Amino acid sequence: MSSQPTSSDEGASVGEKRALPRRQAWIDLWAIAAGGIASFFLCYACDAWERFSAFVATVSAWDGWHLHELMILAMLSPAVAAVFVYRRLRELDALLRERESQFGSLQAAHETIVVSKSTLHDQAYHDRLTGLPNHHALVERLEAMITQPNAADGITAIVYFGVDNFKRVNDHFGLPTGDKLLQAAAERLAVVLRDVNTFIARPGGDKFVVILSALKQATDAEAVTARVLESLNKPFDLGASRVNSGASAGITIVEAGQQDATELLHDAEKAMYEAKGMGRGRFVVFDPDIRERLRRRARLARDLPLAVAREELSLAYQPIVSLSSGAMTGVEGLLRWRHGELGPIGPGEFIPLAEETDLILEIGAWVLEHGCRQLANWIARFPSSAPQVMSLNVSRKQFSQPDLSEQIGRVIREYALPPDRVQVEITEDAYLGDAQAALRIMRDIKAQGVKLAIDDFGAGSSTLAAVQQFPIDTLKVDRSLVTDAANSADSAAILHSLAVLVRNLNVKLVAEGIEDIEQVIALQELGCQYGQGYLFGRPMTPEAIEEMFAGSSLGLTASGASAFGNSWEHRLAAFQRLELEEATQAANGAR
Ligand code: C2E
Ligand code: MG
Ligand code: MG
Repeated sequence: MSSQPTSSDEGASVGEKRALPRRQAWIDLWAIAAGGIASFFLCYACDAWERFSAFVATVSAWDGWHLHELMILAMLSPAVAAVFVYRRLRELDALLRERESQFGSLQAAHETIVVSKSTLHDQAYHDRLTGLPNHHALVERLEAMITQPNAADGITAIVYFGVDNFKRVNDHFGLPTGDKLLQAAAERLAVVLRDVNTFIARPGGDKFVVILSALKQATDAEAVTARVLESLNKPFDLGASRVNSGASAGITIVEAGQQDATELLHDAEKAMYEAKGMGRGRFVVFDPDIRERLRRRARLARDLPLAVAREELSLAYQPIVSLSSGAMTGVEGLLRWRHGELGPIGPGEFIPLAEETDLILEIGAWVLEHGCRQLANWIARFPSSAPQVMSLNVSRKQFSQPDLSEQIGRVIREYALPPDRVQVEITEDAYLGDAQAALRIMRDIKAQGVKLAIDDFGAGSSTLAAVQQFPIDTLKVDRSLVTDAANSADSAAILHSLAVLVRNLNVKLVAEGIEDIEQVIALQELGCQYGQGYLFGRPMTPEAIEEMFAGSSLGLTASGASAFGNSWEHRLAAFQRLELEEATQAANGAR
C-alpha cells in the first residue's frame, strides 16, 4: 500500500509550515526581549547605569542622554544606536573643547589671581617708599614674638626712631626731597644694623621701628640706638640738597608676660617724643613717668594759646657784660610763662610746643613788641645807663616769615627806637637748609638797621662758614663750649680760633653760661670780649635789672661791684671772700 499524502495532509502541513516561522519569530522576539530585560537587570545589578551616568554627568552635566532608552535601542538596533551615539559624542567633543578653552582662561585667571594675591600681600605688608615692612607687618611680627617667646632669643627691645624736623624738610625742599630723605634714612638703618639681629619697619610718616632681639643685656639696646642716631644725625646729600635733619629715638624693653604689641609700640613712641621734647638728636628709654610728662605737655599745649590773652607771659632780662670792664653792654629778653595752676614754666618746655603750631608767630610778635617797649621805657628813664642793646630771640618759624623785617621795622618806628639798639638772635636751625633764603631774610633785617646774632653757636653742627657767610654782628658761643673753656684744651682751641676769626670780621663774641670767675679769666685769655651767665646775673624782672644799670655786673649793685676794682683776679679774690663771708653768716644763722 502506498502512502501518498492526502490533500488534507497537504493542507495541514502547509498550515504547520506557516505557523512554524511565526512561532519562531515570536520565540526570537521573546528571546531578544528576555535577553534585553536580562542584560538591563544585569546592568542594574552591577551599577553600570549609575556609573556611566555619573561619568557623563561629571564630564558634561548634560541631561540629554536618555541612557536607558539608548541601551535598549543599542540592543534592538545597534546601527541606529551607533549613529545616535556618534552624534552625541561629536556634541560632547565640541562641549569638551569649549570647556577646555574655558579651563585655559580659568587657569590664566588663576595665575593672575596668584600674582595679584602676592602683590596685594606685598602692598598690605610693605611700605611702598622704602620697601620695608609696614605697620601691619610690624604688629604681626611683634605679636608673634611676644605670644611665642623663644628663650634663646634673649632680651628684646623696641626702638622707635623719628626723623627730626621732617615737616620742615618737606616745606623747605619739597615732598620729593622728603621722600628721598626717608629712603636714605632707611638705607642708613639697614647699613648700621646689618650685623645685629633686627627687624626694621616703617610704620608710617617719618617713623621707623626696629625690633632688636637676642640682646645680652638691656643696655645693649642703648648702644645700638646711639650708633644708629650717630649715623642719622649726619647730613644727607640728596641730589642738589644737603639736609641735616637728624633723628630722635625712644626705647622700650619687652618684659616677660607683656602681651600687647600696640601698647609696647606706644611706649617706645612716647619715649621718642620725650627725646624730641628734650632737644632732639637723642634717645630716651621708656619709663612710666613719661606718660605723666606727656600728659603735662598735652595740658601745656592746650593752655598755651590762652597764655597771651590771660597775660601770663612776661620777659625776664639777663645782662650781657664786657669781660674786660664788667660793665653791662646789653640785655637779653627771655620769655617766661607763669601758668595759672602749674606755676612758672621754662621756655625750654613751652617754646617747642609753640613751634609745633603757628602760635610761635603770635608769641614771637608779643616778644618783639614787649622787648622794644621795655627798651624805649628804659631809654626814656635812664638815658645814659640803659642797656645799649636789647637782644631778642626769634624762632626758626618766625625767621622764615617773609614779613619779619617789616614787622621789626614797624615796632621800632612805633617806639622811636634807634634800630641798632635792637638785636635779633637766631639759632643755626634758622639757616640750616636753604642758606640762600636765610641770607635774603638776614639782609632784609639788616636793611632795617637792626643787629643780628647767631645764638648757641657750637651746640649743634655749627660751621665756621656760617660766621663768614652771613652778615652777623654777634656770635654767641654756647654754654657747652664755655663750661669747658678753663679745663678742656679742645674747647679752648675752638674758642681761640673763633675769637681770632670774629676779630677779623668785626663780629662781637659773647660767651654764654658763664658761672664762675675761672671761666672769665680763661675766656679773656682766649680773646673773648663779652659774656653772659649766672655769674653776672640771672634772668630777672625789669625792676631788678634796673638796679644794675648804673654799676658793674657780677650780680652786685654798683657800689658792690666797684669794691672789686678792675682786675678779675681781684674780683675773684673779693668774690670768694664774699662767698666765704656769706657761707659763714649762713652757718652762724643756722646754729
Ligand atoms: P638762649 O637764648 O640761649 O638763652 C640763654 C639761656 O641760658 C636762658 O635759658 C638762660 O637762663 C640760660 N642761662 C644763662 N646763663 C646761664 C648760666 O650761667 N648757667 C646756666 N645753666 N644757664 C644759663 P632760658 O631762659 O631757660 O631760655 C632757654 C632758651 O629758650 C633760650 O636760650 C632760647 O633759645 C629760648 N627762648 C627764651 N626766650 C625766648 C623767646 O622769647 N623766643 C624764642 N623763640 N625763644 C626763646
Ligand atoms: Mg638767646
Ligand atoms: Mg643761647
